[in-house]
This record gives sequence, structure tokens and C-alpha cells, in this order.
Amino acid sequence: AVNRTVHPDDTLVKVGDITIGEGFFQVISGPCSVESEEQVVQIARSVKASGATLLRGGAFKPRTSPYAFQGLQDMGIKFLLSAKKETGLPIVTEIMNQTQLPLFEEVDVIQIGARNMQNFDLLREVGRCKKPILLKRGLCNTIEEFLMSAEYIMSEGNTQIILCERGIRTFETMTRNTLDLSAVPLLKQKSHLPVIVDPSHAAGIRSLVAPLSKAAIAVGADGLMIETHNNPAEALSDGAQSLDLPQFSTLMNDLKRRVSFE
Ligand code: PEP
Ligand code: MN
Repeated sequence: AVNRTVHPDDTLVKVGDITIGEGFFQVISGPCSVESEEQVVQIARSVKASGATLLRGGAFKPRTSPYAFQGLQDMGIKFLLSAKKETGLPIVTEIMNQTQLPLFEEVDVIQIGARNMQNFDLLREVGRCKKPILLKRGLCNTIEEFLMSAEYIMSEGNTQIILCERGIRTFETMTRNTLDLSAVPLLKQKSHLPVIVDPSHAAGIRSLVAPLSKAAIAVGADGLMIETHNNPAEALSDGAQSLDLPQFSTLMNDLKRRVSFE
């Protein structure tokens, strides 16, 4: 069970030789969408040099409009695997439905996006696979619902789950979402799972990513997921919240003074 009263010990999630969980702070970084092989390899090299330990990149994109860029799909996964081969960084990418699972054979961490947090069939399906799962909080879901979604995965035998607070919808419109910082200590008190924060999707604004990253560390997050791009102005999705590569490097240097990286 997800509940800490049942399992008091912290769960450590293992991805290759990386550990995520209490005392092992990790930063996942990369573009919102994989756009080309060159793009994702360039970003991977740069974020690795800055200290990121996992590479993210969307291949299947859950876009609000069906006419917006939907991702490179299976080709996107192929390009992520090239970037992994080039850099050694394990890859994190989102699955949108269970029919895509065979394409995720070589993916290191399967992401369940906010919009699928209560796709219970999908949760059960990834609960039957052996890979670590990064579960993002739904846009309008309570902490209790979030924990129950993790429970769906765990009920099928997979305990390697990373929870991700990525902002929730509130009356505030100046940010894309409202980062619920209380969720971080609450999730850590109520469950034994690692909790990371995605300040990029929470804020939707590049200039808020650094301060929210520091806030996440202050409340005890086990890691961060930060969107980066080689040319944010031309990004096919989420450019406004993406850090360019020098900005990410500067942020990482700042964070290294606040938290010990493995
Ligand atoms: C993402 O991480 O690419 C993403 C779509 O985020 P979310 O599901 O949190 O909106
Ligand atoms: Mn995005």
C-alpha cells in the first residue's frame, strides 16, 4: 500500500544506477516535446553537463487542441533512445494509452501525465510492468485522489512510483496553474513514495521556474522536473515556460548550493 502507516520506510526508486527518494535528489530535464534527433541530443548533452541525471521529452503529447503538434510519437521515442545512447541519461516519457506500451520497451521511466491521472485502466496496466512510473497529479485532483491513483498502480504489484506535483487549477490566471507546495510535505507524510516538483507546468512562465524550484527544495521535494529547450522561442510546445540551456545551467549551479546531488 501507498500509505506510510502500512509501510513506514521510504521507497527508493531505482532507474539504472540512479536512485530517487529520501536523500537522493535528482533533476529530470529536457524539452516539452521531442522535435528532432539533433534537438534532443543537443539538449541532452547540455542538461547532463549542467547536472541533470534523467532526460525528459514528450513523444506522445496530450494537447488541448487536436490541431496542435501531437508529438513525433514512435519516432520521438527513437530519438530519445539516441540521446540516451549519446549521453547515458535514462529517459522519461509520457504514455497516453495502453496500446502504446510495446513502444516503451526501452524507456526507463514511464510518465503518466496529469490528464491521465485517473485513467484507471492505464494505471492498472503500468502497474503490471516492471518499470518505474512517474505519476503526475491531475489538474483538478485532490491529494487523496492522487494517492489513490498511485494505489491503483501499486495494487498490480509495481511499487516503483514517483509522485509529481505539477500545479493545480485555481481561480488565479496569472500563472498557468498554482503550485501546491503543501502537497509535497503532505504526500511525504502520508505516503512512503518519492515526491518531485515540476515548476515548469505549474508556472507556465520561465521567470518563475527558478524561484519555485528553490521553494520545492525548501519543502522537502526529492527532485525536480524542468523543461528546457535549445531555442525556446521556436519550441513546438511550452516555449514560454522552457528555460534555455544557459538558464538551466545557471539554475543548477544555484540549486547545488542548496541541496546535495548524488
Ligand atoms: C509533460 O510533462 O509533458 C506534461 C504534459 O505535463 P502535465 O501532464 O503535468 O500537464
Ligand atoms: Mn510541456
